[in-house]
Amino acid sequence: MTVTFLGTGTSQGIPIIGSDHPVCLSDDPRDKRLRVSILISWEDATYVIDCGPDFRQQMLRANCSHIDGILFTHEHADHTAGLDDIRPFYFRQGDIPMYAHKRVFGEFKRRFDYIFATENKYPGAPGVIQYEVKNNEAFELKGVQVTPINALHYTLQVFGYRFNDFAYLTDVKTIAKAEKEKLKGLKVLVINALRIQEHISHFSLDEALEFIAEIKPEKAYLTHISHLLGFHAEVSKDLPENVFLAHDTLTITI
Ligand SMILES: [Zn+2]
Repeated sequence: MTVTFLGTGTSQGIPIIGSDHPVCLSDDPRDKRLRVSILISWEDATYVIDCGPDFRQQMLRANCSHIDGILFTHEHADHTAGLDDIRPFYFRQGDIPMYAHKRVFGEFKRRFDYIFATENKYPGAPGVIQYEVKNNEAFELKGVQVTPINALHYTLQVFGYRFNDFAYLTDVKTIAKAEKEKLKGLKVLVINALRIQEHISHFSLDEALEFIAEIKPEKAYLTHISHLLGFHAEVSKDLPENVFLAHDTLTITI
């Protein structure tokens, strides 16, 4: 199984438009972060988690010309605003399978009504197949069992996803004990770490490290990173030896 980080930034991305913060001005390519997303593939399967405003650029950069579906963590714009750009995939492949909480599909029908229209649909609009993700109901994608992990982003429900020994969670602030049980025995955990200071709806760096210490994956990668976390090179130096800052284009094999 291979995972490529398509984006590792928080909602505004890094650099932030107009910012003169030193991290936004950094020349280190690892300090340039598109909105958070991964590409996960095994054998002939390729899936994307989330479809933010940088989706088009991410697909071009990853040289990705076929996807078997998109899994969504939640409906916030930094995870969903690129939905129109599934059009090239739709034109080649037909309706694109999407996996999400039913609340997220409800939001999509409002924001992307032309994609979800059932009557008088515009011919250039993409089509999707909706698969509802429910907590405590694992599902199978091309031979791999996927376990949804339920968490809270302040008060908003979000899903993380476990694929075999790999799990991806982002925009988590609180997570129940029963959900942590589903994360036992991981080889790789990806978890959000926004910044040093606490935040109402995201793990801070310390909270993410505490979570990793509790879950005990072999390795962990931090994502959904704000410029306020600091320079990639500096922050990386102080992390535990099995914890790494993810950066855009990083590919790992599990
Ligand atoms: Zn987010």
